[in-house]
Amino acid sequence: MHDEFGKSDLATTKARGLWRYAKALPVRPESIVTLGEGFTPLVETRKLVRGVKLLAKLDYIMPTSSFKDRGSTVAVSKAKELEVNAVAIDSTGNAAASLSAYAAKAEIPCYVFVPSSTEPEKVVQMSASGAKVIKVKGTRQDTHDVIEEAYRKYGWYYCGFMVSPYAIEGTKTIAYEICEQLDWKPPDWVVFPVGTGSGIVGCAKGLQELRKLGWIDRIPRLVCIQAEGCAPISNAYKRGGEDIIPVKAPHTVAEGLAVGAPPKGSLVLEALRKTGGLAEVVTDDETIECAKVLAAKEGLYAEISAVPSIAGVVKLVKTDIIERGDTVVCELTGTGLKSSREYSQMVQEPSEIEPNLESLIHVLRG
Ligand SMILES: *Cc1c(COP(=O)(O)O)cnc(C)c1O
Repeated sequence: MHDEFGKSDLATTKARGLWRYAKALPVRPESIVTLGEGFTPLVETRKLVRGVKLLAKLDYIMPTSSFKDRGSTVAVSKAKELEVNAVAIDSTGNAAASLSAYAAKAEIPCYVFVPSSTEPEKVVQMSASGAKVIKVKGTRQDTHDVIEEAYRKYGWYYCGFMVSPYAIEGTKTIAYEICEQLDWKPPDWVVFPVGTGSGIVGCAKGLQELRKLGWIDRIPRLVCIQAEGCAPISNAYKRGGEDIIPVKAPHTVAEGLAVGAPPKGSLVLEALRKTGGLAEVVTDDETIECAKVLAAKEGLYAEISAVPSIAGVVKLVKTDIIERGDTVVCELTGTGLKSSREYSQMVQEPSEIEPNLESLIHVLRG
């Protein structure tokens, strides 16, 4: 990071998105590949919990509709700087869809590997961006094992969020944005839905940098929320241990969190320890219930994989771990438009009428 990075740079920069923090990012300005990502809204929600200030960070308002664009913009900028022959990634969907779009913009060939079960919306999005999409029959881990051999064989530049340092460099801007948006008065808690851990680990790095820069004087407690059907990190935390025991057959509606053996798991535990944070697990039912309230009472249509963060807050408020008067920021990582399958099971079919008033009256009488 540049030593001369000061808050005054933010007052004068023309960059409105996350590249307003370019001086903290490891890319030469001329290499930047951007689609206008970042500086997403913080919106207060009032109907989920009482007595707590709950702010949703709408990271689904992004060029490809997920927070993965933070990592992709930095990773692809770096790839351009390094003049690589191609980029490659494996993911449960959003990271691949995101990388595909940035690679398209940079005109770098892109290979993406996804499990066959990946949501069709995401697969179409990748294909439309011109990526070579390979569906792998098997789990997320199987997908990872195949690409590892492939990128070595073909010399592709690997951008997997599980290992790429640039994913973390990108996601650390979440911390910069939250603190700037709150006038450099950090919240008490920042809560993430965790799969690989690239989001929460990046946020921890950003917070540490901000403290070193002297822009904040304390660090919020970070919270890792995982789904019951795949919670290797949260379970390790609850056991009080360091060992991440892999989940062999992850099963959860929160597909983006179905990472059975997260290589960054120990870094997540370290982030929790260093910030006085904690980890929790939510059930699929709790997640679905929260998704309904978020959409119907708050107008927030979030991807099902994003909602465990909110469900986790509801649980932690109920158990008095998050206390009255606390300010909580919850990361909403993706859009409901990519969870049509799940939402369509939660709602009623709309009424259909003949194009006349009698028909309408009949329906409204119910
Ligand atoms: C990737 C993703 C997550 C999990 O983020 P990690 O950085 O892998 O922990 C959560 N929600 C959505 C929508 C995602 O795309």
